[in-house]
Amino acid sequence: MTVPTFEEKLRILAESARYDVSCSSSGSNRGERKGGVGTVAASGICHSWSADGRCISLLKILLTNHCTFDCAYCPNRRSNDIRRVTLTPDEVAELTINFYRRNYIEGLFLSSGVVKSPDHTMELLIETVRILREEHRFNGYIHLKLTPGADPLLVSRAGRLADRVSINLELPTRESLALLAPDKSRDSILLPMHQVSGLIAARKGEGARAPAFAPAGQSTQIIIGATPENDLRIITLSQRLYQRLGLKRVYYSAYVPVTSDPRLPPLNGVPLLLREHRLYQADWLLRFYGFAPDELLDNSTPDLDPELDPKSAWALRNRDLFPVEVNQAEYEVLLRVPGIGIRSAQRIIRARREQRLRVEELARLGVVLKRARHFLTGDGICGVKELSSDRLRAVLITAAKRRSSAVQLSLFDTAASVAVTGEF
Ligand code: SF4
Repeated sequence: MTVPTFEEKLRILAESARYDVSCSSSGSNRGERKGGVGTVAASGICHSWSADGRCISLLKILLTNHCTFDCAYCPNRRSNDIRRVTLTPDEVAELTINFYRRNYIEGLFLSSGVVKSPDHTMELLIETVRILREEHRFNGYIHLKLTPGADPLLVSRAGRLADRVSINLELPTRESLALLAPDKSRDSILLPMHQVSGLIAARKGEGARAPAFAPAGQSTQIIIGATPENDLRIITLSQRLYQRLGLKRVYYSAYVPVTSDPRLPPLNGVPLLLREHRLYQADWLLRFYGFAPDELLDNSTPDLDPELDPKSAWALRNRDLFPVEVNQAEYEVLLRVPGIGIRSAQRIIRARREQRLRVEELARLGVVLKRARHFLTGDGICGVKELSSDRLRAVLITAAKRRSSAVQLSLFDTAASVAVTGEF
C-alpha cells in the first residue's frame, strides 16, 4: 500500500470526524492576549452551519482513525476494514494555525480514535493543544474530546487548555452501550463528566484570577435510533444532564448506517432525521421554555409526534389551559402558547404596558398567528372559530407544512433550524 500524502491523511481524518455533531462553539469568552493569535468574542465565536446543519467554522478532525475500540455504529471501529492514517500533534497544530491565519477556520474541534490506551490517546490530544497554546500562542477556540476511561489528571489537564470539552454518551442506557460499544462503560463516560462539572463549578467559586477551566463548558452527543430507547427516555436523560451536570448542550445524532454490523438495527419507523429534529425542539423547550420531560411525553405517549412540533402537541393535549388572555397572562404562560417564542413573549410584555393588545396585532410582535390564534384571546376576543381537537390538529399540521416550505426548512434541518429561529 502506498504511503498516504499529507492531503490524503487530512481528507480521511476530516471525513472520519464528520459523524460527531457535538461541535457547537458558542459560550466561550477567552479574551485577547498579548502576543497571542486569535480571540474568542464574549458572545462566542461566529459559527456557520453547513447545509445539513453541521458546524463548519472549526477545523474538525481526528488525530487518527486507528481505534482499538469496536463501536458497532462507527466506521473507525477496529473490526472495520478501512484505510488507517495518523497525524502527529505537531502536524495538527501546524495545520490549525495555518488555517486560522488564512481565515479558513475560527478554531479547532479535535478528537481521536483510541490508540494503545485511553491515557495514551488523551496524552496525544493534550500535547496537540499544548503545542497550539504554548508554542503557537493560539488563543482561539478549541473543543477537545475526552477519551472514555482516561485518567482524571489528564481530564483535568484537558479542561485547563480547551475552551470546551466533551465526552459522548453515545447511547442512552448501560445495556445499549454494552451491546453496541462494548469497550466503553457507562462509568468511563459519566465519571469524567462529573469530574468536569465539579471542576467548572469549583473554578466559578475561585474568582476571576484563577486559571480557566473549560470556560465554554461541556457537551455530549447521543445517537438516536441505533437502539430501542424512546424519546421520553432520551429527553429525561438530557434533562438530568442539564440539571445535575450543568451541560451546555446535548446533541442528538440520527443514527446513520455508515457501516454494516449485525448488531445494528434495520432502519424503519419514523425517519431518524425527523426524529432528531423533534428531539432538538423538545430539548429547546426543556432549556428555555420551562417544560419538564413528563409534560411533553408520558408512558402512554413515549415518542414525539412526527407530524407536530412538541409544543403544539402539548397544547392540543391540554386544551383546558387555553385560551390564554394576551393582556394578562404571565410571561411563562405566554411561552407555552404555540406560535409564541421567547422574543415575541418579551415583546408582548413590553407592548402591553403601553396599550391593550388584540390578537390580530400580534403578528407585528413576531407571533406566528396561524398557530397562536387558536390558543389566545385579546380582551376576551378570540377572532377564530373554536375547532374540535381533530380539526385543530389538522389545521396546525397544514400550517406547519406551509411554514416549512416557505422558509425552506426541511426535515433535514436540525440544530440549525432550532438555533436560528428558537421560536415555536
Ligand atoms: S471509540 Fe468507538 S466511536 Fe470512538 S473512534 Fe473508536 S470505534 Fe469510533
